[in-house]
Amino acid sequence: MHVISRYGDTMLLRLVRGEELVETLTAFCGREGISAGWIEGIGAGDRIEISYYDVEKRRYMPTVIEEEFELLNLLGNVALKEEKPFLHLHATAGKKDLSAMGGHLHSLRIAGTGEIRLTKLPGELRRSLDDETGLWLLCPTED
Ligand code: ZN
Repeated sequence: MHVISRYGDTMLLRLVRGEELVETLTAFCGREGISAGWIEGIGAGDRIEISYYDVEKRRYMPTVIEEEFELLNLLGNVALKEEKPFLHLHATAGKKDLSAMGGHLHSLRIAGTGEIRLTKLPGELRRSLDDETGLWLLCPTED
């Protein structure tokens, strides 16, 4: 991954072919000490694991797709989960026939490129486990 440029607290990043996006960006946030942030991006991949979260069953229902696709939209945030940077990302993938699928992103392997804007937010965001949904939700920073 390359840091293409920095504009204050905003970074433009480029992922390279073969890199796993979630792992790479999570490690970068750790190195940069980012404990609150916003992420958006586009690109292309050849393997993606996305899922739908079934709130009733309290579990993710993952699907792995191994074919080339356009990463039409990547959107999410960075917060601390058990003191480590954790990325909550959603992605939309466009297939060769121009149909699209999307979901909660678990992993994505870059095929062509990944062009990511990462904005570091001031302060910290934290997640804690919510008993009702089984999800690690953002904690309010004010009452
Ligand atoms: Zn999600």
